Amino acid sequence: MAVTLRDFMSSGDVLTIEPSATLGDAARALRKRDVGAAVVVEGGAVVGIFTERDLLRAIADSRHPDVGQVQSYMTADPVTLPPDHSPSEAAQIMSERRFRHIPVMDGDELVGIVSIRDLMSAGLRIGSAEAHMGTDFP
Ligand code: AMP
Repeated sequence: MAVTLRDFMSSGDVLTIEPSATLGDAARALRKRDVGAAVVVEGGAVVGIFTERDLLRAIADSRHPDVGQVQSYMTADPVTLPPDHSPSEAAQIMSERRFRHIPVMDGDELVGIVSIRDLMSAGLRIGSAEAHMGTDFP
């Protein structure tokens, strides 16, 4: 069976944040969860993505962490993919669009997030399975 994003994404409790949250709240949430991105959700709907890169832009603009809001620095309407999508196409989108996270949506429901790190481990697992087959199954 073909491998899909479902096999490599982080699922379950995806970090979400509201657009009205402050930059400081976002930074603390990313730090606490030790992740690089939060999906921005309003009224149950995904409206954006906010990553450490956005935090960097806010700092470069001298925005105060207790005043600046996520909605001013998030990317609205992020690229999302369904869980049955192929990991290699996800990697291609990340490379072309120059971002490292893709929320995984099953219809309107947020079911996971895939990062470039998840896709690297997917590549390593596939690569080592191929190497294994090469030596053990001539
Ligand atoms: P990243 O490399 O994921 O930290 O993100 C770099 C920039 O792209 C940031 O401004 C993010 O808000 C934005 N970004 C990240 N993921 C996505 C996505 N799936 N769709 C659209 N923009 C994104």
